[in-house]
Formats: sequence, C-alpha cells, structure tokens
Amino acid sequence: MKIKKFYDVIVIGGGASGMFAAGCAAANGADTLLLERNNQLGKKLSITGKGRCNITNIGEINDFIDSYGKNGKFLYRSFTRFFNHDLIAFFNSYGVRTKVERGGRVFPVSDNSESIVNVLRKYLKTNKVTLGLDLRVKEIMIYGNKTGENKLEIYKIEGIKLSNRKEIIKTDKVILATGGLSYPRTGSTGDGYKMAEQLGHTIVSLKPALVPLETKEDFVKDLQGLALKNVTVTVFSNGRKIECDFGEMLFTHFGISGPIILKISGSVVEHLSKNEEVIVSINFKPALDKKKLSDRFLRERKEFGLKSVNNVMRNFLPRRLVPLFLKLANISGEKKFKQITHQERGKIIDLLTNFKLKITKPRPIDEAIITRGGISLNEINPYTMESKKVKGLYFCGEIIDIDGKTGGYNLQMAFSTAFLSAGSVDNS
Ligand SMILES: Cc1cc2nc3c(=O)[nH]c(=O)nc-3n(C[C@H](O)[C@H](O)[C@H](O)COP(=O)(O)OP(=O)(O)OC[C@H]3O[C@@H](n4cnc5c(N)ncnc54)[C@H](O)[C@@H]3O)c2cc1C
Repeated sequence: MKIKKFYDVIVIGGGASGMFAAGCAAANGADTLLLERNNQLGKKLSITGKGRCNITNIGEINDFIDSYGKNGKFLYRSFTRFFNHDLIAFFNSYGVRTKVERGGRVFPVSDNSESIVNVLRKYLKTNKVTLGLDLRVKEIMIYGNKTGENKLEIYKIEGIKLSNRKEIIKTDKVILATGGLSYPRTGSTGDGYKMAEQLGHTIVSLKPALVPLETKEDFVKDLQGLALKNVTVTVFSNGRKIECDFGEMLFTHFGISGPIILKISGSVVEHLSKNEEVIVSINFKPALDKKKLSDRFLRERKEFGLKSVNNVMRNFLPRRLVPLFLKLANISGEKKFKQITHQERGKIIDLLTNFKLKITKPRPIDEAIITRGGISLNEINPYTMESKKVKGLYFCGEIIDIDGKTGGYNLQMAFSTAFLSAGSVDNS
C-alpha cells in the first residue's frame, strides 16, 4: 500500500492494542496509518492462550483493577469507556461467538486465536486504515515550543522516521503500541521504550512477570514434563509467607512452571530482586491435614502392609515422584509398607505437605508472558492516555507500567487503553 506524506494519526505497532487503536481512530474519521515491523499483524496475539486467545474475563471492574496490583487504579477511566462486555459485543458483531471457562476466562468458541486476529484485520480494512507492514519505526520526531506566560516548554509531534529511511512521515498524533520485551520473536523487542525515553519519558525498571522459575534443586530435571493438578503452592521470602495459590503446576528441566507458578512469579521476582531468599513450598495433598494423612497411612498399612513401599506410595503420589520422595526421606522402596517407622511416616507426610524448592531466578524475560514496568504512569494522563511530556503522543497496551494476572486481564487492558487513546486523538 502506498504511504502518503501526512496522516492524521500514526499508530506504531500492529499487535492487539495497535490494531484496535488504529481501527477505532479510523472509525472516528481520522486518516490513519498503522506501522508494523513484521510482515504480518498480531503475531503475539496469535499465540495467546495457547493459540486459543483468552480475550478477557467476565469479572467486575473492581476484580480487574485488583488484578493489576497497585497500578490498577490508573485503568478506571479506560474501563469505564470500554470494558469486557464492550469487547465481547465487538467480536460478536463480527460473527465471533465467545464462551466463558473456569475462572471467568472468555475465549472464542472456535478455540482459535486466528478468528480474533481476523476480526481485527477486517476492522482495519472496513475503516480504511493504511497498513505499512515490514516497516520498523526508528524515531518519533518532535519540536519544542516555548509558549504561555511561564514560557513552559511543550513538545509537539512532527512525525516519525522509519529505519533505513531519511524522510519523515508527517503527523501531529502518534499512538505508541509497541508492546513489551517478552517473546521478542513476535516483534516485541522494546523499541517503544527507547523511543519514549528519547522523548524524555521515564521507563520503570523492566522485569519478567508471569514467568517460569528456576530452582536450586536440580532433581527437577528428572521430573520434567510432570504436571500436577490440585496442589497448593506457598511462597516464603526470608521465611515470611508472601502468597499462596491453588491449581495446576508443571515440572520442567530448569524448575517449575504452569498456571499457579506463573501467577506467583510476579511477587517471587520482586522479592528475588531485593536479594531475599525465596522458597516455594508445594502441598501435594491440600485437601488433607497432617492428621488425616497420617490416618490414611495407617489404613493403607492395614490393607497393603505386605506390599512394597514403592508400590503403596503410588496411592499417594504420581508414579514419577515416588523414587524422589523415598530418596529424600531416605527410605528403601523395596521394604514392606508395614515396616515404615513412625519417624519415616512423619518424613513422608512432611514432604507431601511441605515440599520445598529454593528459587534461584526467573527464566529470562524472553520467556515471560508479560513485561512488568514500562512507561511511568506519572507521565500519562489516565483520562486520555496522552503523554504529559509530548502533546499528541499517546500510549496503549503492554508498553505502559501495568501488568495483570493471567485470565484475560492483559488483553482487556490492551484493548481498553487502545480504545481510550483512539477516542482521545480525535478530541485533542
Ligand atoms: C505466550 C503468551 C500467551 C499470552 N496469552 C494471553 C492470554 O491468553 N490472554 C491475555 O490477556 N494476555 C495474554 N498474553 C499477553 C498479551 O499477549 C499481551 O498483553 C498483548 O499482546 C499486548 O498487546 P500489545 O499490542 O501492547 O503488544 P504486542 O502484542 O506485543 O504488539 C506490539 C507490536 O508492535 C510491533 N513493533 C514493535 N516495535 C516496532 C517498531 N519499532 N516499529 C513497528 N512495529 C513495532 C511488534 O512487532 C508487535 O507486533 C500472552 C502473552 C504471551 C507471550
């Protein structure tokens, strides 16, 4: 598509937030250019929710605000303008039916993220957004202006420059939607942070969030691929209980991952960065207290006392965990179950309810679902998403200093901030 010399609005980044922002700006009547460095739109969106795309959650506004931690309040305005029911109605209006799953998660009935990406492509086409694929933006050009009685310096947008090109594509409004730093192969390599920093913005320290964790214990290697359901994990930092969650987890060659591990990873990363000792304790039998577990042990002993320990322990644990448990408890798997001493029973019950792993570090940010940190919220107007430093510059999506839990909160944030920014360019 031929690119002109001037646009009313230029949106940088063709991910979830950039596509929606460009479509909304154009639907409001702005001549809009969307620039994406990849040769396709929505590369990250395509892999969300394991390819099924958890677009949002049916929770109330306050549940949403809580799910982003202390920065969540910033999103009130975005959510009052465009919330989960609006997003669902938008996709429904393009023929995508949605369904609600465990925890209020909303998915397309197709279980295919491509149906979501396709709607956004259609939305751009219907509203005649000019698409510039394979075009990487290098710089946002501004000019300073001494105005007002206090001779305050206000910067305005002049246009943008692409990599390897000299000319400026002119505009006075830019929406910066380049995403975070995670999964860089999708195109999100943090370019937007550099562009914003060059314009005087503060970037709050960038860290991985919703990220797998590495453990000191290398025996996890032997458990690689073992998925556990209905376990509780509790995080302790310097011996103090920080967080507790219930659900599914997974052992990997480096440590632990899976839904509840991603959930707790944000606070684990925070405490590790303060050089605190972080221990994750797994309770494999959260439905039973120690007394009930002990009673069950005695029942099993009565019934299967003549069988080997190896054999009976499989009634308590997944088969792959048994040798490790017996090794850690220093018990021979060959002896008869009835020969287990009182002390050995105590050791096993301890391991079943308080299986400790020392966390050494998170996996690299490349492997994180989301980036924590980003453009400082102090420098963004929450009513418009406009920069307080540069007139005509707007932000939306993961680039800002907000990250949410799993469950559709991150995409809803991307769409809501996109809607607000696109609505604001029209009025400024
Ligand atoms: C594996 C995975 C699964 C996920 N699953 C879910 C889920 O199910 N539900 C949920 O709510 N969230 C999920 N997330 C998080 C969600 O994907 C992000 O919150 C969301 O994609 C952020 O959208 P964005 O538009 O801000 O950024 P992105 O989607 O990262 O888009 C940014 C775009 O900008 C482009 N770009 C970057 N720099 C430039 C440049 N200089 N010039 C031009 N273009 C540029 C990039 O190529 C990219 O296409 C998942 C994330 C991952 C990694």
